[in-house]
Amino acid sequence: MQVLILGAGQLARMMALAGAPLNIKIIAYDVQTESLVHPVTREVFSHDLEYGIANVDVITAELEHIAPDILNICQASGKFYPGEEAILAGGNRCKEKVLLDKLGVNNARYQIIANRDDFDVAVANMSLPMVLKSAFGGYDGKGQWRLKTPAYADIIWQDIVKFLAASHKTERQYIIAEEFVKFHREVSLIGARSQNGSIAIYPLTENIHVDGVLNVSVSASEDTALQAQAEAMFEVIAVALNYIGVLAIEFFDVSGTLMVNEIAPRVHNSGHWTQQGAEICQFENHLRAVCSLPLGSTKRIRPTAMINIIGEATVPISVMSIAHVHWYDKEPRLGRKIGHINLCAFNDKQLGESLKVLALHLTKDEFPALMVAAENLS
Ligand code: AMP
Repeated sequence: MQVLILGAGQLARMMALAGAPLNIKIIAYDVQTESLVHPVTREVFSHDLEYGIANVDVITAELEHIAPDILNICQASGKFYPGEEAILAGGNRCKEKVLLDKLGVNNARYQIIANRDDFDVAVANMSLPMVLKSAFGGYDGKGQWRLKTPAYADIIWQDIVKFLAASHKTERQYIIAEEFVKFHREVSLIGARSQNGSIAIYPLTENIHVDGVLNVSVSASEDTALQAQAEAMFEVIAVALNYIGVLAIEFFDVSGTLMVNEIAPRVHNSGHWTQQGAEICQFENHLRAVCSLPLGSTKRIRPTAMINIIGEATVPISVMSIAHVHWYDKEPRLGRKIGHINLCAFNDKQLGESLKVLALHLTKDEFPALMVAAENLS
């Protein structure tokens, strides 16, 4: 079985590694160089994208920001999963919000802003602080602003105008003004839906972000009522989109009531713990789903924490004696995710203790959320 992945980053790399035992061969389309590459060896293939699309069995994606013409050809091939509609919904906050509202899925109140007048109306009508987010092109906290008092409206608007001017022109950019949610934590749900409509969902994970970027994700014991709430929303969204593949949903947990923050139509950073913590990892389950193979068990086999390695962070080799280290073969660069660590334990308490031990090997500057995660478990 040959699978073409749109995007050639770490997610494609980890799918290639997970697919190898199933004889699933992966080629990836690097959107920067516009070439077909092997996502692990980085070998560049001489064929072009059209040849790849015509000759693989299945097409999928590791990112949602895909040029409309490429999306169209992939969709027309009849072998693209999860498909255009899901990718567009995940890649554009306006479409995502409209979808969630249409399905009656709880999400933060918002207003769509196209110009200064809309912005002024939002500032006048919505309670402050508010979060402003670009409809697309923003990720990991980029393309986002916080407006705390009307006094800063002009300054923030000037920054937004610069952002809008720099946005690419093939699609109209908007800003979403969203009410500030006073959540007490953030969680996410990763699940897979197969071509025959069966669904397999992993346990919820708790996510700790620093400056809008995921730092640590912990999969430990969870409240069954919260899990049921998240799964019900997952099912509504996945069925409505006739979704095939792994879908990730990020939530705000507001004292036991979940509110969707965003959906990602792909394998997700907060699902990396499944490589060591679940019976079948998210990467393999995504491939199983899109290749019409039976879904694998999503059962958590042990509490696991995933810690992102970001920018120029260093990891002494001593860490390998207590945890699993996954490098992405990427040049270190400020803010760039270059690897992650999966730390496993027999129970929640031991995971908290192990996180404290791990913190002794790593610096607080480079791994700021480790102790927070440890304290949450004790
Ligand atoms: P996002 O790109 O939407 O995932 O936002 C990045 C991070 O900003 C989230 O993980 C939250 O920590 C925070 N955030 C986003 N939207 C809101 C909101 N409406 N209220 C409070 N915090 C938010």
